[in-house]
Amino acid sequence: MLKEFFIGLSQNQFLNAAAQKYGLQLGAQSVVAGTDIHEAIETIKELNKSGISATVDNLGEFVHDREEATAAKNQILGVVEAIHEAGVDAHISLKASQLGLDIDYHFALSNLREIVGAAAKYDMFVNIDMEDYGRLQPSFDILDELSKDYGNVGTVIQAYFHRAEDDIRDYKDYRLRIVKGAYKEPANVAYTEKEEIDRNFIKLIEYHLLHGKFTSVATHDHHIIGHVKKFAEENNIPRDKFEFQMLYGFRRDMQHELASEGYNFTTYVPFGKDWYGYFMRRLAERPQNLNLVAKQVFTP
Ligand code: FAD
Repeated sequence: MLKEFFIGLSQNQFLNAAAQKYGLQLGAQSVVAGTDIHEAIETIKELNKSGISATVDNLGEFVHDREEATAAKNQILGVVEAIHEAGVDAHISLKASQLGLDIDYHFALSNLREIVGAAAKYDMFVNIDMEDYGRLQPSFDILDELSKDYGNVGTVIQAYFHRAEDDIRDYKDYRLRIVKGAYKEPANVAYTEKEEIDRNFIKLIEYHLLHGKFTSVATHDHHIIGHVKKFAEENNIPRDKFEFQMLYGFRRDMQHELASEGYNFTTYVPFGKDWYGYFMRRLAERPQNLNLVAKQVFTP
């Protein structure tokens, strides 16, 4: 119930627009690294000092007009330059809907092409984050198009989708982030029970570790992390073939612990004014994250 409530809130366009007017609120500052790239770069420098890399998300999604999508493209091009100029260990995460997918496929493709082309000059990886089911196939289509010209692009496989097992085979030659899946999806396309999702998540991770290019295991779930560590060791998977990823602000101790154990580790660093939908999805995933809100509201 609470999950559906927060997912509903995450998609409320009115609240989203209202939130953009006011800086980070409601505890979002615990999980969003500021409203501009300079603040995000400072965070990345701190992470890098601990041997942690970053994937940077200039927050934004569900954009419905061309001007907004073009502005998002220009901002992300600015992020590519800022990462390069600062010399930090970081790459880009973005969403196709932020770059105009809901307006016109070819317009979004051309925006993404510009970003991936700019990042390629610096040998910087660009990850196309995966959104809800309706945007899944067009996002794969964009990836197919871009990978004809560029090798610095990859995407996400969401374990709750029935089709994920086919997708991971089709995209095994890509660098892939594997996650459980964050959106509310109907039972005809997605597993809805935690046990089924976890089982598929492990199956997909093991497949990509054994047969794929590079695997980013993105989870805060210590059971899954423990399993992956053991599986990698037992199957002699070299450490440079995979990494763990977590979101900025979550399980910080475990992030540092994994990095200090010698695992490649990347923190997902979101920043920007469009923090609302991202933050509500984090509350939907784990209502205990409401503690973050309580701490911010009730402490000075
Ligand atoms: P959960 O299923 O939320 O938790 C499992 C168990 O882990 C919990 O029961 C608890 O015991 C423990 N646990 C979890 N969190 C905590 C915590 N904070 N403190 C203590 N214990 C905890 N989804 C998409 O749909 N598309 C994407 O592109 C995408 N990109 C992502 C990128 C990254 C780096 C990460 C980490 C997630 C991404 N997600 C994405 C979200 C993902 O799909 C899940 O919704 C989200 O990660 C929650 O699932 P989980 O695997 O972390 O563990």
